[in-house]
Amino acid sequence: MQIVIIPIGWHSSEFEDYTATIVSPLIQRLSKIFGDKARINSSSSLQSSSSSSLQSSSITTMPPTYLFDKARKQWISESLLDWLLESSEPDITTKVLAICDFDAYSDELNFVFGEAHLGGRVAAIYLPRLREEFYVRKSDNNNNNLFEQRVIKEAVHELGHTFGLRHCQINKCVMHFSNSLQDTDYKDDKFCERCNKILASIL
Ligand SMILES: [Zn+2]
Ligand SMILES: [Zn+2]
Repeated sequence: MQIVIIPIGWHSSEFEDYTATIVSPLIQRLSKIFGDKARINSSSSLQSSSSSSLQSSSITTMPPTYLFDKARKQWISESLLDWLLESSEPDITTKVLAICDFDAYSDELNFVFGEAHLGGRVAAIYLPRLREEFYVRKSDNNNNNLFEQRVIKEAVHELGHTFGLRHCQINKCVMHFSNSLQDTDYKDDKFCERCNKILASIL
């Protein structure tokens, strides 16, 4: 099993930051959590025969504009996941985790921190609402760490869904549903004992 992390919609000027503050800590933590069950890799773009039409020099792979809801100024998460699956064509042993630096929503939710195909091959997390700046809060020294932790928790959560895990009642468990950032900040970045057992039985 392998997990491939790919950036979606990042400008090249942000790429250094993306690698340092997101991918490196994420790979480290995911390697610890999924350990012997999955290899963690990162890629700079979607690998697909049709990728040439999706690329430009100053931006990483950008989803097609029909996945953007102009009225809401948000991307449509469910459609984005379908597009991700079609464009990246992961094999049965691969989970693709898209790190999207834009806001998105899904059917019944005003916004989502992330979404995944349950028991599927694709997951995405959306970063803007994980940043303190989004809420115009005063920044403090822990912000980077806080942001890093949120990214990790949301990534582990969505990957958990791709491995077939559903939401967990235990509010410290990473599979607990985050209705707000408080929920995300409260929970751990790890699976509870029960979720771990389910995961072990799947993998
Ligand atoms: Zn969830
Ligand atoms: Zn759990």
